[in-house]
Amino acid sequence: MSQPPILSCVRAAVNFVWRLIALLALGLAPTVAVADEPLPRSVLILDQSDADSAWYDAFSDAFRSTLNAESGTRISVYSEHLDLSRFAGPRYDQVLLNYLGAKFSDKSIGLLVAQGSSALDFVMRSRADLWAGVPVVFAGVDEETAARLSLPADVTGTIYRLPFAKAIAAAQALVPNLKRIAIVGDAWERQAVRPNYQKEIPAFAARFEFIDLFGLPMTEIRKRVSALPDDTAIIYTSVTLDGAGTTYFAHEALAAFADAANRPIVVDAETNIGHGATGGFVATPMPIAEAAARLVLRILAGEDASRIPVTKGDFTRPVFDWQQLQRFAISESRLPPGSEVRFRPPGLWDQYRYQDIVAVAAVLLQAVMITWLLVEHRRRRDAEMESRHHLMEMVHLNRTATAGALSASIAHELNQPLGAILSSAEAAEVLITANPPDLALLKEILVDIRLADQRAGEIIRHLRGLLKRREIEPQNVDLNEAIGTVLDLLQPEAARRGVALADGRQQRPVIVRADLVHLQQVILNLAMNGIDAMVNCVPGNRRLAFQTALNGRREVEVSVSDTGSGIPPEKLKGVFEPFFTTKQQGIGLGLSIVRTIVETYGGRIWAENRLEGGAVFRFTLPLAPAP
Ligand code: ADP
Repeated sequence: MSQPPILSCVRAAVNFVWRLIALLALGLAPTVAVADEPLPRSVLILDQSDADSAWYDAFSDAFRSTLNAESGTRISVYSEHLDLSRFAGPRYDQVLLNYLGAKFSDKSIGLLVAQGSSALDFVMRSRADLWAGVPVVFAGVDEETAARLSLPADVTGTIYRLPFAKAIAAAQALVPNLKRIAIVGDAWERQAVRPNYQKEIPAFAARFEFIDLFGLPMTEIRKRVSALPDDTAIIYTSVTLDGAGTTYFAHEALAAFADAANRPIVVDAETNIGHGATGGFVATPMPIAEAAARLVLRILAGEDASRIPVTKGDFTRPVFDWQQLQRFAISESRLPPGSEVRFRPPGLWDQYRYQDIVAVAAVLLQAVMITWLLVEHRRRRDAEMESRHHLMEMVHLNRTATAGALSASIAHELNQPLGAILSSAEAAEVLITANPPDLALLKEILVDIRLADQRAGEIIRHLRGLLKRREIEPQNVDLNEAIGTVLDLLQPEAARRGVALADGRQQRPVIVRADLVHLQQVILNLAMNGIDAMVNCVPGNRRLAFQTALNGRREVEVSVSDTGSGIPPEKLKGVFEPFFTTKQQGIGLGLSIVRTIVETYGGRIWAENRLEGGAVFRFTLPLAPAP
């Protein structure tokens, strides 16, 4: 807005008088660094915005951390926020001069940093009064402002340019059939950041229709952006004061209307991303701040600011908001190459990384444990099989030993049927020569031969059964039958040793689940021990009795009792331990094998002494379930 020349002169004069009064009032001007001496290691940042500005926050973080990281000695950093988008004019300038002059009167400032175009403008207006000769580094200053201010040599920094063409390029990426562009913002003259836009827009006027949404009250902005045609994109510059006189930070104003917008919103400042903007080529404060900090370090290290030329940096990059892309169904493939897409919801891995790691670790641990358990199981099974094999080997050896002990008597016993067969055959030979032969008698003789043969065959079959190798194969077997076989096998030995066998078996079959030969072995072992124990008894008083009795409906109890020496009471349990023997030729394994067999089939075994003398061995077995 142009002013009459006379008014300008009056303003300048008033300005001058204000400054004079201020300096006189202070009595002294702020300390100024003397040339050629090292500069004081203190920096004053004059920021164009309000203290709460998001841009400054990001700028300050990056600036300070670069200084701290790259400087050996600590540099003091002061910052002042000039709030120039909301306050302006000579009077405000004067207020700032008074305030800054008074505040920093006793501080030696080595370097000024102007953050933002309007801050640099202010520094140029005030430096002579407050910080004459203090070098200036500027940041976040657009090319046009830098050119307009015709900067002195000791004012250096980086400049940027936000070409309007980039905003158009972003808008075209978001809206492929772009025809219209709605621009939301403060009036151009209030916008220090992008003075070039206004000049560059006409170049696009032939291709696009521009919808001007400047200076409107927020309610009106919301209304207008909610009813835009399909082929439109919104370009948001900056609203700090709306048409209703309400002040905002730029990102706040954006958030205040973005939810109502029916078209994507293009922005040019990173600090607007995340507040409803769809995205765009945005200026980012971090590299701007880092560049400024490095210039400060160079000058504080002794480099002459006048020799550092102003450079132009490209501090923009394409950044988009994933949520907004979804909202307007814009495919990421349409975005400019190298675009960064923010706020993408984390994948399951990112979201539950810790839980995932724990779960995977748990599964791995589980897998390792399972493998280990399987290997252990396998090893245990192998060991069990081996030990069972050894056990069966022992059981077999024990049986063959028992059979061996019986074999002399059995061989002797076999003589009887064999002798009978022989004499019957001889008698038959004689009878057959008679004429006519006595066929009826011959038939009787043949029956005798057959019976004698059967008897011999039976004994041999039983003996062979004992000598066979066996595995544990439980079947339904009759316990009485097992005892019967044992009685048959034992008979000759008992007779030889003058022992009477008493058969007290149940009359009906007693069915248990076991291996028949194993049962025979148990009973035979107990019987042979009984016979051995009666060796010193008076002949005629040697009696071995077998009994079966049902214990309720689930169990049968078998007892083998003798009239022998009995067992010392303290040995009643010990007799079942391996290698316990009192016999000269004994090994002491018989009873331990007997106990193993009984327990294998689910039974128990114990020994008692009989009141009338001698021992009784009892064992139980579960009855087989009724079919
Ligand atoms: P072995 O017959 O080789 O000695 P056993 O394990 O069959 O091995 O018997 C162990 C010991 O138990 C015998 O030496 C004996 O002292 C004792 N014993 C077993 N049965 C009787 C019994 N009926 N009467 C007395 N002592 C017995």
